[in-house]
Order: sequence, then structure tokens, then C-alpha cells
Amino acid sequence: MANFSDDVVIIGAGLGGAALALALHQRSIPCRLYESRTEDAKGLGSGVTLTPNGLKVLDHLGIYERIAPKSYQRETFALKNAEGRKVRDVHVSTEALYGYKTCRMYRQLLLEELRAALKERGIPVEYGAKFEKVLEETTDGVTFRVNGRTDRASLLIGVDGIHSAVRKHLTSDLPTYTGIACVYGHLPTASISWLKEDPDKAGTIQDEPGAIFMIPEDPEGSDLMVGRQFSHPSLDRAGWEALRTENEALYSLFCKGYDRWHGPAKEVMDQLSTRKESLLLWDFQRMPKMERWSSPTGRVVIMGDAAHAMPPSSGQGVNQAFEDGYTLALLLSSLSPKTKWTEALDYWHHLRQVRIDAILDTAYQTDILRLPKDEREVYEKKHCFNSNKKMQPPEDYLKWLFVSTTEDDLTAWIRDHS
Ligand SMILES: Cc1cc2nc3c(=O)[nH]c(=O)nc-3n(C[C@H](O)[C@H](O)[C@H](O)COP(=O)(O)OP(=O)(O)OC[C@H]3O[C@@H](n4cnc5c(N)ncnc54)[C@H](O)[C@@H]3O)c2cc1C
Repeated sequence: MANFSDDVVIIGAGLGGAALALALHQRSIPCRLYESRTEDAKGLGSGVTLTPNGLKVLDHLGIYERIAPKSYQRETFALKNAEGRKVRDVHVSTEALYGYKTCRMYRQLLLEELRAALKERGIPVEYGAKFEKVLEETTDGVTFRVNGRTDRASLLIGVDGIHSAVRKHLTSDLPTYTGIACVYGHLPTASISWLKEDPDKAGTIQDEPGAIFMIPEDPEGSDLMVGRQFSHPSLDRAGWEALRTENEALYSLFCKGYDRWHGPAKEVMDQLSTRKESLLLWDFQRMPKMERWSSPTGRVVIMGDAAHAMPPSSGQGVNQAFEDGYTLALLLSSLSPKTKWTEALDYWHHLRQVRIDAILDTAYQTDILRLPKDEREVYEKKHCFNSNKKMQPPEDYLKWLFVSTTEDDLTAWIRDHS
């Protein structure tokens, strides 16, 4: 039987796939990647938030030093009232507590750094190569089709995103729409007068018709992402694509209830009126919980969005994909002949799922914070929860998220099963 780590193939050289490849390489496991897009294809023109748990992985992979100077760094995310005054911090990630501040940077820059590292470390990526399907899986390996030709791997890892083709080999389940969509755009931070002297440029304004969240995307804090999420009827994929191209409709969604917003939010809307072409739409999908992230022989595995796509209000999609890859590489490199790979995979999945479930709970609470006041109050009453409470939670209340114990738990499990 071929060893699982003899010839690992990764489908998808996005953020998660690239990080996984670097983690495998670091542990001397050879791998190669297939990526359906071309090398020069440009991704979404928006940023991603990297929290201490994801940054720690990037640091281990030698990427943190490269990206830190390219990101906007902050230690808090402020909840503000309708007049723009801070009520409390909803997200604290201080360097003193966790070793890293939260970083926000353009997704494309992050991807370019990861892919540059792949090149420097000699990890082969074939761009413009679309994975089609698994043809056969045996206890010896996997045969699959990519760009019309047949290939083989000892282990096939699908990191091919929310619409994963590899996942089809494991389940017919598909991501489901959560009922929430978001319109977001970009403004010069300096164009918002009340934000100029405000030290908390990253935050959420909670007003009667809903919430507007904002965060700078660049190190200087000059390029501000502003977003608003709201309930929206479900559309099919073509319907969402069509709506994405309608700037006026997107702007109307962003400004819905304009007269009921207070000055700070209205100024954001007014400024955005000259930049309607920059507006983007995101329908929030999440992957139903899967029984397993691997096939019965363990020769096909999925991770990242393919396994657990989650709403962006979690701020954790990329960070969790990094955790997946780093811990999967640890598992693969630490197996002894006595350890059963499928059992190891199941334990890894269990540990990862516990975190994903907890993160989905926090995303739900963030979604409530962003609802219109009347809807928010209905939820709060039902769940005996007060999103507007002024009390600051303990400073380290997100420690469970920012300091992952998965690595230690896996190491202990491997030791006990070797
Ligand atoms: C607008 C936006 C903002 C976000 N903000 C944040 C944030 O602030 N923080 C955060 O943590 N997360 C954020 N996320 C979520 C995050 O982007 C995803 O969770 C993360 O990118 C998942 O990584 P992945 O590698 O699993 O998938 P992806 O990044 O989607 O990569 C999948 C890759 O697979 C390739 N691929 C797809 N199909 C095939 C195929 N058949 N064959 C070969 N290759 C294929 C794709 O081209 C792509 O390169 C955001 C997402 C969006 C859309």
C-alpha cells in the first residue's frame, strides 16, 4: 500500500491550499497543487481579517514577517452608538495577550505572498488546471481527472473553496444560504469627517435601521471598507450574479431606511454615493455540518471552505483554513505504522468541528448586533441576551479562539496511539 504522504495532491491554490502546501513542505512531505484559475487572475477587491490564531500559523510558516508591514493592525474593534460614540470593544486581540494584533489586509496581497513562498520553496503549482472528479479510490491511492487527463495521488486534499468539486466525492450536501446578504464598498478614510480624530477606525455603528461596520484595509488606515448586512430573499446563483452587477440596486440596499439613520452613518452613505461602482455583494452561505471530512479509505480529504464554509460575520474563514492545513500537516507527518489514518482523521475532524461550531455561535451573535433595532430586540428577548450592554467582557474572553489547543491535543492523541 502506498504511504499516504508519498504523493500528496492539493486541489486549489487559494489561501487555504497554499498554506497547507507550505505546512506540508515544512514537514518534508512532498506535494503539488492544481489551481483552476490562471496565475495572474485577480481575486476579490477586498480585504481579510487575520486574527492571532491564523497569524500564528503564518508565523510558523515564515509568512507573518512578510505580511505584517502590508496590513492594518489593531487591538480592538469598537461597538459605537448611532452618534458614533464608543459603547464598548467587541473584539480584543492585544499583542500583550496573544503575541499578535489583528491584521487586516487585501486578500490579493496575502495570496501573492503565499504563492511567492510556494515558488521560492519549489512547490509545484499547475495553474489553469481544473479538477473534475475522482475516478477511483482504493486502499492504495486515488485516481482523478484534471483538465481532461487522468492523474494519481497517494492522498487527494480538496481545498477548492465553497463550491468544491472534490466534496462531491464525499457528499451531495451543498452550502445553504443563511438568509443574510451584505453590501460593502470602499472609501478614503479621510472622507468621513467624524472618523478623522477617532482612534477606533475599526468598528460597528449600531443604529435603528441596522449596523454599518468599517475597517481600514491598508497599513496607513487610509482605505476604509464599509459594509452593511441585512435579510434578503434567497436567489439562485445566476440571480446573485445579476444583482452583483446592479450598482444602483446595491446602493439602495446599503442606504435602506436612510432617513432613520443618524449623522455618522448618513455621512458614510453620502460619501458612498460617488463610488457606487465599487460596491460588492456577498450572500452569506454556510456548509451544513458533515459527518466526515474524508472518504472511508482516508485517501480523499477536504478542508477550508470546502468542508466548513461559514458566514463572514465570523471573521474566521481564512483563519480556520490556516488552522486546518497546519494541523493536518502535523497529523500526516507524525503518523506511526501503528496509527490508523482514518481514525486519526476522524479525531482531527472532531477537534476542528468543535471549534467551527463555537465560531458559528459567535458569528450568530455578531449577526444579531447588526440587525435593525426591532428585529434585534425580538432575538434578545427570545434568547435573554443584550447585545447593547455597556459592560465590557473580560479582556481575554476570546482566548479560546485566539489560542488554539488543537496542535497539543493532536500531539497527545498521536502519542497515545503510536
Ligand atoms: C468578500 C469576502 C471577505 C472575507 N473576509 C474574511 C475575513 O475577514 N476573515 C476571514 O477569516 N475570512 C474571510 N472570508 C472567508 C475566506 O475568504 C474563506 O474562508 C477562505 O478564502 C477559504 O479558503 P479556501 O482556501 O478554503 O478557499 P478559497 O480561498 O475559495 O480558495 C479555493 C481555491 O480553489 C480553486 N478551485 C476551485 N475549484 C477548483 C477546481 N475544480 N480545480 C482546481 N482549483 C479549484 C479556486 O480558484 C481558489 O483559488 C471572506 C470571504 C469573502 C468572499
